[in-house]
Amino acid sequence: MGVRAGTSAIVIGAGLAGLATARVLSDHVDDVRVLERDRLPLEAVPRPSVPQGRHAHVLLASGQRQLDDWFPGLADELTAGGAVSVPADLGFISSSMSQPLLERTIRGLLLRQRPNVSVSDETAVDGLLVEDGRVVGVEVDGVRHRADLVVACSGRHTRFLDQLAGTGFPAPPVSEVRIDVACGTCVVPRQPDDFAGALAVAVDDPALGHRVGLMVPAEGDRWIITLASFHDDGPPADPAAYEDFARSLPLPLIADVLAQAEAATPVMTYRMPTSQRRHVERLKQTPAGFLVLGDAICSFNPLHAQGMSSAALQARALGHAISRHGSASPRLPGAFYRRAARVIDLPWRIAARADLADPRISGPDLVGTDLVDRYLDKALWAGHTSVPVARRTMQVQHLLARPETLITPAMIVRVLLTAVTRPRRR
Ligand SMILES: Cc1cc2nc3c(=O)[nH]c(=O)nc-3n(C[C@H](O)[C@H](O)[C@H](O)COP(=O)(O)OP(=O)(O)OC[C@H]3O[C@@H](n4cnc5c(N)ncnc54)[C@H](O)[C@@H]3O)c2cc1C
Repeated sequence: MGVRAGTSAIVIGAGLAGLATARVLSDHVDDVRVLERDRLPLEAVPRPSVPQGRHAHVLLASGQRQLDDWFPGLADELTAGGAVSVPADLGFISSSMSQPLLERTIRGLLLRQRPNVSVSDETAVDGLLVEDGRVVGVEVDGVRHRADLVVACSGRHTRFLDQLAGTGFPAPPVSEVRIDVACGTCVVPRQPDDFAGALAVAVDDPALGHRVGLMVPAEGDRWIITLASFHDDGPPADPAAYEDFARSLPLPLIADVLAQAEAATPVMTYRMPTSQRRHVERLKQTPAGFLVLGDAICSFNPLHAQGMSSAALQARALGHAISRHGSASPRLPGAFYRRAARVIDLPWRIAARADLADPRISGPDLVGTDLVDRYLDKALWAGHTSVPVARRTMQVQHLLARPETLITPAMIVRVLLTAVTRPRRR
């Protein structure tokens, strides 16, 4: 379906979900306005409403491919902005950068490449305009802005669904996994010969405490180091204790980089009590003219690095739903939420399955898939010795393939052979 003359959309929030949504809407709607409450900096620096901008980010291959497809020249612009090429043995992640650089580059390309999109910063949306059971726009500082479609990409703490609940629409049921994850991040200078720019991840055994370290190369010759753990075991802010925490990981390389670093920023901390999924797909009644997307639907445990890619894939699903129903159809919200739920199911399962292996983490039972889950666990392990299995499990983890693609006769033989020949593991 092409652009319908005179149609308009408002996107609330210029985070990654908002930018991806605006890109998709620009194919279908005449005038797309993105309203963002923060001042959007010209430089690639963190901003107040997006605390995750201070922490290490990894863009999964599915998100990277989708963004490359939408924004021609993205890879070159990121490289020009200082993004670091990552040696990718299995061909999945090709470059690494800070979250602010990625967000700023996409925002710049969106504005240059899509002339029907505008972004207004320092514009906080106070509420939705609801008339006759339909959302017809938003209110900002007492001024009404009308649009055929409003998409709230306003993040985990979005208030707009609560506002609708106040006008008689039901609120969606919520699933939560009580991860209580604590992250501590510091940034240190990166020497050109440090691990040839490789990306480092070290993960402990969940049953033994589950500490995680992630070190990503970023623009400006920096390593962004994020250490994390669950419950009361968060990384300390004191530099020496922080280094000790890094030393407790099963691989020494992050601690070695910290020990050799000539300077380090103070440790910046972040806590997330739960990963949280709003089951908008179960809503029996939703107003026409309004959708939520991105972290506003599902905010994942950040350690699985799924949020940006999930947002991009949800935005792609929105494009498919609009092609089918049109941007102003009352059937659009239900159709989109069903598609978004299918997109979210896979990363939600992958993350919840891994998190719930830690006995201190509680959450909804992942019923009915024990056998499949045990097989997937074996497949992950088989990937250590079988390149075809590793490639396929990586495709699943990067949200490029469904888990069922691991259950082919050839894969089953490889996985089971490894299971019977592998040494016992801890
Ligand atoms: C510590 C941490 C690490 C992470 N690491 C990764 C990673 O490695 N890989 C990955 O893929 N994902 C990661 N994520 C998740 C990822 O950052 C998000 O999923 C992704 O950026 C999409 O977020 P969003 O755009 O939906 O929401 P947000 O980024 O929260 O953006 C919401 C925007 O809406 C604006 N807004 C809110 N209310 C209003 C209003 N009333 N009016 C106007 N504007 C408003 C806010 O200012 C903000 O700009 C991480 C998250 C955290 C917390």
